Amino acid sequence: MTGVKEAMARILVVDDEEIIRCLLFDTLSQVGYHVKTAVDGSDAITQIENEPFEIIITDLKMPGIGGLELLKYIRKINPDICVVVTTAYGTIESAVSAMRLGAYDYICKPFELEEIKIVVERAVEWQRLLRESRLLQLYKHLSIIDGLTRVYNHRYFHEFLDLELQRVKKNSGMFSLIFADVDDFKHYNDLNGHLAGDEILRELASLLLNTTRKSDIVARYGGEEFAIVLPDTALSGGLSVAKNIMEVIRGKKWMYTGFYPDKKISLSAGVVVYPADAQGKEDIIKKADDAMYYAKKTGKNKICYYEGNQILDYKG
Ligand SMILES: [Mg+2]
Repeated sequence: MTGVKEAMARILVVDDEEIIRCLLFDTLSQVGYHVKTAVDGSDAITQIENEPFEIIITDLKMPGIGGLELLKYIRKINPDICVVVTTAYGTIESAVSAMRLGAYDYICKPFELEEIKIVVERAVEWQRLLRESRLLQLYKHLSIIDGLTRVYNHRYFHEFLDLELQRVKKNSGMFSLIFADVDDFKHYNDLNGHLAGDEILRELASLLLNTTRKSDIVARYGGEEFAIVLPDTALSGGLSVAKNIMEVIRGKKWMYTGFYPDKKISLSAGVVVYPADAQGKEDIIKKADDAMYYAKKTGKNKICYYEGNQILDYKG
């Protein structure tokens, strides 16, 4: 037993034999579990629909809805519920079928009460581990996702870039990096308020996700600036993704964008390829940033890129 909290698990005992129901009820209640009983499958279903249970101990052979059918139903509505089946000696095949259908464990009748307690303890522990690992996954997810836009955050961008640099050094590959910043975003916010501005960032983020491949990483670098890492992508590929993003933005209807020259949100983007045109991590970030600022400085709503040591306008 791992503590008081786990001893409070809610258990439903399903059996058409009253003596078994009472035996299990008494034994498990004494341990401290919250135990309810059901006389058959349909009684069990009614109770499961009305209150939550973590563990269900069910007989296989019952009139009406039997244990296997009940198990199938439970797996469908909540696969986290642990189902333990009880079966008479000589009907072990049905226990095997139950395990195949996803039962957590089975117990043969007649059973020792100690055996029941151990199986239930294990089921409770299994569920505790399941909850913990889900929580861990959730925390991990939250620590790398930008809360506003749901794309990766600045921290994960750096982590991924490190990994990508290592991968490329080892396998002599390449990748493209795109930096893209929303033009006149401060002005947009001043005119329309920050809530409208947040909405623009969210829409842009989802648009970036939809215009890149699954293997590409879209991150919010900060403020109104996004970064996209495109593994195995040469300059022509990086530029064509950037161009496609621009086209999608131009084709979309935007709210409150009357003050933009084209009445659309626009981006200025910088593209650079590693290792062809950048030396290492800092250099590639600086160059993508420089190319992006050059695009801003020279008119906005366009793509600039590094080639060798110079920044060029993309006219494609
Ligand atoms: Mg029975």
